[in-house]
Amino acid sequence: MRIPLIAGNWKMNTTVSEAERLVLEMLERLDKIQGIEKVICPPFVSLVAISMMLQSSSIKLGAQNMHFEAKGAYTGEISPLMLKQLCEFVILGHSERRWYFGETDEIVNKKVNAALTNKLKPILCVGERLEENESGRTKEVVERQVTAALRGIEPTGDLVIAYEPVWAIGTGKAASGKQAAATIGFIRGILAKLWNESVADDLRILYGGSVTAANIREFVSYPEIDGALVGGASLKVEEFVSIVEQTADIKGRTK
Ligand code: PEP
Repeated sequence: MRIPLIAGNWKMNTTVSEAERLVLEMLERLDKIQGIEKVICPPFVSLVAISMMLQSSSIKLGAQNMHFEAKGAYTGEISPLMLKQLCEFVILGHSERRWYFGETDEIVNKKVNAALTNKLKPILCVGERLEENESGRTKEVVERQVTAALRGIEPTGDLVIAYEPVWAIGTGKAASGKQAAATIGFIRGILAKLWNESVADDLRILYGGSVTAANIREFVSYPEIDGALVGGASLKVEEFVSIVEQTADIKGRTK
């Protein structure tokens, strides 16, 4: 049985005091919601303060990126060793990292490997761009990204995958539930081939891209979709709490 998961990617938003305020506003309400994993991923500079705020709560902490080396002369980078004292999860291969910061499949593979070695759970993002979608290459792109990111990595239940079509991120144009479920089913098939069916059956695969309180039901009603990686809407208390509540409700009823 896969535990549903909703993760909030705050991206490059909130100062430390704004982040603390946001957590204070949602903490009690999120904490109460059961049967679902709740993860927030604030900017690096807020991780220490927020990890303290979440200490006795059911809300988990994630980072938005990391370097693959443990330490060394990599000015401005953050390592898995630093994160593992604070976080359980780390988002890797987000399309904004791939397209704005030139992260290749090879770099993503090194990061996934480093995260797992350091007992951090990667939320590995994959997804096609608009032109790839329009030219019918979605499956080819996600297959390449998943296979490359997991090259040389032993089967593990600690991985989470987020299928995030690039054209749906931050655009207000979400995929349809049917489209997302079909691609997620395809990704599960890749994992079954690459690793084995039982691990593939146990892994959580999320949808991400313009998820809101108004459309979350459309996604999590599909048994293939185990939750969502939420960007913009995770910065709004009512929206995010409602997304988590609706997911817990729907997945709880379909158990
Ligand atoms: C994201 O940042 O992973 C994301 C899906 O963003 P948004 O929900 O704003 O589209």
